[in-house]
Amino acid sequence: MVDAQLIPRGIKDERVLTAMRKVPRHLFVDEPMQHKAYDDMALPIGEDQTISQPYMVAIMTELLQMKGDEKILEIGTGSGYQAAVLAELSLAVFTIERKAVLAKKAEERIRALGYANIKVKVGDGTLGWPEESPFDRIIITAGSPQLPQPLIEQLSDGGIIVAPVGDRFSQQLVVIKKLKGALSEQLHTPCIFVPLIGEYGWEKG
Ligand code: SAM
Repeated sequence: MVDAQLIPRGIKDERVLTAMRKVPRHLFVDEPMQHKAYDDMALPIGEDQTISQPYMVAIMTELLQMKGDEKILEIGTGSGYQAAVLAELSLAVFTIERKAVLAKKAEERIRALGYANIKVKVGDGTLGWPEESPFDRIIITAGSPQLPQPLIEQLSDGGIIVAPVGDRFSQQLVVIKKLKGALSEQLHTPCIFVPLIGEYGWEKG
């Protein structure tokens, strides 16, 4: 996966490549999907949700520019795979999933693999995790109509948010940096994510 997909498509950060070589992606999907776990595609994980395409995980992780001592917030735990990759590269990962069934399965996988630096919570991630804020990095792994204001407030100074922003069916990766209270925004790769449903996201349905 790393040699055939990620490096040829331009992922350069050695730390990201090493983490993605290490985390066993097949353990984050159900048994019938395991033979496809390293293919260049998103896969179903139940509840009409998906584990993101490996390239999308890699590019979003690379755009977060982590050094290793960051506190991360992820919105959209899904399978738990992205959280595990983040946990390889940072101090602590706080991840929120709105679907309890997925959060429970993700937590079981994360515990079985021995990740002690990941905390999973069920809830509306568009509200963030105020008790644990501020966060050095925030990643949204569902398509958002705009950046949820609570997440901007919970980002530390010098922090970075990476999120797919657009309409319900197609988005573009947006990188937001906060410096001395001011925000700057850069647009990246076009992408397609399942919708972010919540108070500062899309309505359910
Ligand atoms: N990061 C995941 C992984 O590694 O498997 C993939 C995430 S999947 C593309 C998007 C997830 O976001 C779904 O599991 C969905 O239920 C969740 N989601 C959507 N809206 C949410 C919200 N407001 N708060 C938390 N999770 C949300």
